[in-house]
Amino acid sequence: MAEHWSGGQVTARAHCVLAPNPGPMTLDGTNTWVLVEPGATEALVIDPGPLDEAHLRRVLDHVEGRGARVVQTVLTHGHLDHAESAQRFAELTGAPTRAVGRGHDDLGDGDVLRAGDLELRVVATPGHTSDSLSFALPADHALLTGDTVLGRGTTVVAHPDGELAAYLGSLERIAALTGGGEVTTILPGHGPVVPDASAMVAFYRVHRRERLEQVRQALAEGAQGVEDVVERVYADVPRAVWPAARLSVAAQLEYLREVSGRGA
Ligand SMILES: [Zn+2]
Repeated sequence: MAEHWSGGQVTARAHCVLAPNPGPMTLDGTNTWVLVEPGATEALVIDPGPLDEAHLRRVLDHVEGRGARVVQTVLTHGHLDHAESAQRFAELTGAPTRAVGRGHDDLGDGDVLRAGDLELRVVATPGHTSDSLSFALPADHALLTGDTVLGRGTTVVAHPDGELAAYLGSLERIAALTGGGEVTTILPGHGPVVPDASAMVAFYRVHRRERLEQVRQALAEGAQGVEDVVERVYADVPRAVWPAARLSVAAQLEYLREVSGRGA
């Protein structure tokens, strides 16, 4: 896996402009994806990112440098590191912004988005948040996953909006796409491109199972509540990401309560 990531052209149709917001949760920064059919003049942008004028300028410079213009912007989810600049970017481009939870412009599973001859299919992948979407780019065998699958490390299930049962379902959905060869490459919301999508999704599924088992174990050993579980289960993880770990643990505790409530 690439350690250093600074964006750039990664498939025939996908170019990443990396936002200058690196951090423990955002890794190298937010990936703003510019999708253009080769030789075409219509660009579709995924996640304009945090409100940073210089970043938005770089995105537009890239698009204009190719003789193209932005015709549509879509959001993988509403977290600020992806969506904060959406309104400003719409002002700059005059292009509509689409996401989950935007009234009549709502995006739903299976919707097909077009920019010229470029085709993008919406794959609903709730779990990180309830509004998380992925986007399949069939021509490049790529899936743009937002924060559902990252380029490095694992993601957080942002309880209470995010839900583990939904997240596990979304991983299964992505595994079906990668297993069938429809998707070979993941273009994540943070971190480097994942050239072996299938292996990464398998790793994510194993990781979630292992964490859940560790949480079960901690409870069996008498752990009480989120903080206690985090201290026992996430001892190996840098403290900077413990706030995120707390959310994931809360999501796991809720999941285990639901599972036991169903008598499973
Ligand atoms: Zn993010």
